[in-house]
Amino acid sequence: MSEFVSGRHFLQTPGPTNLPERVLRAMDRNAINHRGPEFGALGREVIARLRHVLQTAAIIGIFPASGTGAWESALVNTLAPGDRILISRTGQFSHLWEQMARRLGLDVATLETDWRRGADAGAIHSALAEDREHRIKAVCAVHSETSTSCMTDIPAVRSAIDRAAHPALLFVDAISSLGCADYRHDEWGVDVTIAGTQKGLMAPPGLSFTAIGDKALAAARAGGSARSYWDWAPLVAANQTGFFPYTPAINLLFALNEALAMLAEEGLPAVFARHARYAQATRLAAAAWGLELQCADPAAYAPGVTAIRTPDGHSADKLRNVILERFNMSLGNGLGRLEDRIFRIGHMGDLGVLTFTGTLTGVEMGLRAAGIPHQEGGVQAAMNFLAAGGAAA
Ligand SMILES: *Cc1c(COP(=O)(O)O)cnc(C)c1O
Repeated sequence: MSEFVSGRHFLQTPGPTNLPERVLRAMDRNAINHRGPEFGALGREVIARLRHVLQTAAIIGIFPASGTGAWESALVNTLAPGDRILISRTGQFSHLWEQMARRLGLDVATLETDWRRGADAGAIHSALAEDREHRIKAVCAVHSETSTSCMTDIPAVRSAIDRAAHPALLFVDAISSLGCADYRHDEWGVDVTIAGTQKGLMAPPGLSFTAIGDKALAAARAGGSARSYWDWAPLVAANQTGFFPYTPAINLLFALNEALAMLAEEGLPAVFARHARYAQATRLAAAAWGLELQCADPAAYAPGVTAIRTPDGHSADKLRNVILERFNMSLGNGLGRLEDRIFRIGHMGDLGVLTFTGTLTGVEMGLRAAGIPHQEGGVQAAMNFLAAGGAAA
């Protein structure tokens, strides 16, 4: 087989996502002096634009790290070893966050789910109501569980905390929902939001950030764990000046700034409606194929990714390999306990309608080539919906 493959690779993983040409051009330039005035203006602009997508006026701490680093910063700035946290294990990402918390010496109370729905706000409420001594210091929730394509209702979690009149902080991982779904750090009363660049924000991997509310800032000032690199204190100052306490990832910031400008130009409501349309079209295709969705709760369907189960006895990884080899497209794999049971179609970030329908075409051809039992007509169902205007339900 010749090594050369004609045409553009379809990167339809739920992160990293496709980089728009404008973002590629924005970072394709020399670095600048990170202590000079041009950088200060860039830093301030990126922070202002991040506030816009997070719908917040909060302090934003940016780290040259993947999302995992921002998870750690949230935990070590506000909590000390032995502090108790409550986390719902809704999928592989909450599992990894939970494991990190244990390694950091936190006392973790875990609420289990079947990985087919979001966190159960009622269970969170009960756990908090029983905690009369207020030993639980923080509740951790993953807004969009990228491994299962299920959303957690963050306002419902907030209200569970409030109804229990519990002082725990609320930490939300919005890594794969930001730029795909409506997200309101301030209005929803989130104390720390964690997000990263390589999913809905259409920028390269390598940057992550935390939006830090006043209560979390106070907790960080009063205590937390031993920390140095992840410390928020020097980053608080950066919100006014735009400068960082060390060499920032300058070219990634050029990229992120351009991507955020694009989101503002499209307008957040249009961005969210576009994601909802593609998600619904994907579900219509899955239904026509006769394949089952991993997310079993229609109220929790994620807008940026759809996880689809292969029929029992049929390898999802084999399907993905066939699609990669034959049709030059990458899809997300099943993670953790879902390994080889599901494949995930990423429809987040920079995605035009034809690239999106091309993605579904690759899946449908792959199902046939891999011998997965299915019915035809998934692409047709999606096209019918989109051609009719795709009024997202
Ligand atoms: C991708 C992802 C992470 C991990 O982020 P990295 O950048 O890979 O460290 C965490 N949480 C969610 C919900 C994600 O989608």
